[in-house]
Amino acid sequence: MGFDTSGLLPLSDALQGMLEQLACCCDSEQQPLPEALGRVLASDIASPLAVPPFDNSAMDGYAVRLSDLTAGTPLIMAGKAFAGQPYQGEWPAGHCVRIMTGAPVPPGTDAVVMQEETQADGDRITFLAQPEPGQNIRRAGSDIGKGACVLPAGTRLTPREMPLLASLGIATVPVRRPLKVAIFSTGDELKPVGTPLAHGDIYDSNRYGVRAMLARMGCDCLDLGIIPDDPAQLRAAFIRADEEADVLITTGGVSVGEADFTKQLLDELGEIGFWKLAIKPGKPFAFGRLPRAWFFGLPGNPVSAMVTFDQLVQPALAKLAGQRFERPLQLQAIAAEPLKKSPGRLDFQRGVMSQGPNGLEVRSTGSQDSAVFSSLSRANCYIVLERERGRVAAGETVTVEPFGGLLL
Ligand code: AMP
Ligand code: MG
Repeated sequence: MGFDTSGLLPLSDALQGMLEQLACCCDSEQQPLPEALGRVLASDIASPLAVPPFDNSAMDGYAVRLSDLTAGTPLIMAGKAFAGQPYQGEWPAGHCVRIMTGAPVPPGTDAVVMQEETQADGDRITFLAQPEPGQNIRRAGSDIGKGACVLPAGTRLTPREMPLLASLGIATVPVRRPLKVAIFSTGDELKPVGTPLAHGDIYDSNRYGVRAMLARMGCDCLDLGIIPDDPAQLRAAFIRADEEADVLITTGGVSVGEADFTKQLLDELGEIGFWKLAIKPGKPFAFGRLPRAWFFGLPGNPVSAMVTFDQLVQPALAKLAGQRFERPLQLQAIAAEPLKKSPGRLDFQRGVMSQGPNGLEVRSTGSQDSAVFSSLSRANCYIVLERERGRVAAGETVTVEPFGGLLL
C-alpha cells in the first residue's frame, strides 16, 4: 500500500522473456519401457500396429451370421473360440460359434450375442432377441490405426502411457536424458537439518522444497548444500555448478541491498538480470546465464521460493528438458470469506477450495506472509488475484488454480 509498483515486471512478460531464450538442451537416448517412466519422449511415437490387431469379441456369447437367424429357430453350436485360440473349423449354415471375450471372431461373423440373451439346450442355442449388425465386435484398428501418432514428442511418460506403449509391442522408447540441475542455498544463518541451531540461525528449508520439486520434474539434482555469504565460496560454487550442470538454481540473496556479492559475481561470470516481479509472494527473482549453464535465483523466503519455482522456473525447466508444458488449470470459485489484497501485484494466495452448497468455494489458509510456510502446506490451491484488484469481499468470484503435479 502506498508504494509505487508501476516498475514491476508482470509475470507473463517475465515468463515470455525467459521462454524465448531457452531451447531443449537434452540429447535423446533409447530406454527400456519400464525405465522410461518419468522421462520425456524425444520423438513422436507412431503405432507399429493396429489396436486391436484383429476383429474380436467384446463379450462371452455366440458369434452369428444374421442370415442364419430365424425367430424361434435355434442354431447348432459348431465349436468354440477362446482368447488366443481362434476357431478354425467349418462353419456350416444354421450354426453359431461359442466365443469368449477377446477371441478373434470367425470370418463371416455379423454379430456377437451375449450369453445372457440366449438359451442353451445342449448344443442347440436359442436367441432371445434379434442382434444388431456388428454388435459386441471390437473392430481391428478401432482404438488406434496402424501408423497413427499415439504420443507426441515432449510427452512426459506417466503410468497412464506405460500400458499404451506396451499394447503396441514397444520395448524401448526414445527419451531425453534428464536435465541436470545444481542447487544451493545462500545465507550465513542457514543450518542443515539434523544439526543444532545457534541463536540467529534457522534451518535451510528451501533446498528440501526445491529438491522435491526437481524430483517431481524428473531432473537430476546436484545438491551443493549451503553456501555462506562469502564471495570466495560463492564464486567456487557458481563455477562448479556451471561446469557440471545445465542449470543452477539458488535461493536467497537476490533481494535489494543484501545480495551485493551475488550480483557482483554473477555480473562478472555471466549475464544475469535481477528482476522485480509484479507478483506476491516472490518479488525478487534473478534470471540469466553463466558461461554454460542457465541461472535462476529464487527469493529466500520459503513461500516465495516455492511459488516462483512453480510458476516461473517449472515452465522454463520443462522447455530445457524438451517437455511440452501445459498452462495450469484455473477455475472460478466463490470467496467464502473476505480476502486481504492491495492493488499493484498479482497475488498467489494460498487457499483451500471445496465443494459448497452453491458450487466451488475457497477460503484462505490464514497468514499470507511469505515466511509463513504452514499456509502453503495446508493449502490445496492458489487463489489468483488480479494485479489491480483490491480487497475481496465474501461472495465475490475469484480465480483458483488447483495445485499441480509439482506440489502434490
Ligand atoms: P534473502 O533473500 O537471502 O534476503 O532471504 C530472505 C529471507 O528468507 C530471510 O529471512 C532468510 O533467512 C530466509 N531464507 C533465505 N534462505 C532460506 C532457506 N534456504 N531456508 C529458509 N529460509 C531462508
Ligand atoms: Mg540471505
